[in-house]
Amino acid sequence: MKIILFDIDGTLVKAGGAGARALNHAVQAMTGRKDACSAFQLQGATDKSNFENAFKAGAGRKPTKKEMASLTQKYVDRLPAEVLLSVKAKKYLKVKGVEKFLAKLSARKDVLVGLGTGNLKEGAFIKLEPSGLMKYFAFGGFGCDSHHRCVVLQKAVERAAKLALTSIKSGDVFVIGDTHRDVEAAKEAGYHSGVVLDGFGDPQLLMRSNPELMARDFTGLKPWLIWLGLEKDPKGIKRGTYICPDSPIEHAHYGRTGLDLRDIDRGIKELRKAKKKITG
Ligand SMILES: [Mg+2]
Repeated sequence: MKIILFDIDGTLVKAGGAGARALNHAVQAMTGRKDACSAFQLQGATDKSNFENAFKAGAGRKPTKKEMASLTQKYVDRLPAEVLLSVKAKKYLKVKGVEKFLAKLSARKDVLVGLGTGNLKEGAFIKLEPSGLMKYFAFGGFGCDSHHRCVVLQKAVERAAKLALTSIKSGDVFVIGDTHRDVEAAKEAGYHSGVVLDGFGDPQLLMRSNPELMARDFTGLKPWLIWLGLEKDPKGIKRGTYICPDSPIEHAHYGRTGLDLRDIDRGIKELRKAKKKITG
């Protein structure tokens, strides 16, 4: 059984800044500070740590437990209106090709698709609602499970194991995200990692985090399916069972699956022939 965990923001959808606006609203209501989210990096962190940072930016100190609960409530109350605003402004987008990818994956019996997100569970549902993608996810790990993304992913796998009534090997877990933090968390847990470059990740940090697969989005599914070990690689090497140093990255980067290498081979043969003629 393969477990595939999707991050939400920048990986499944782009909510047009709805989360940041809802959090700004909540912090302003409690501390008076406007635009608290501009003070730190939101992307790729869990909601819990974002809430703490935003409150700190407003109040100049850590929130108490009670304040965190109140901030969370205010955020969740505000989020639907902000998501709706993004939808109306046409700033709410699905990442290209993701629906087709999810439909393909969930039709398989050897795959369980889940969420691995820093969003609170309620926030995750609200953000996904307009996309209609929620139906593909039977379980997940959420920002309310832990501050740490790695633990969030492990929680998701625990839930997958319960659903599948079997134990799950870490080598069978594939994490798909859009920031270096997704990659680092996956690696920390011993899971595979793949990223979309069209999300919110910093390209340099992404490169440095060294995921097994990088692709612009999900418009070309072949590299993703080969990486997951669900489709045969025309080069004949089995992917998805271990970290393969050359090709998943090569695949995503150059869109190569081995098929287009034939042209290069042909070119080289012709060059050799030409060389023979010249040298005699
Ligand atoms: Mg993300």
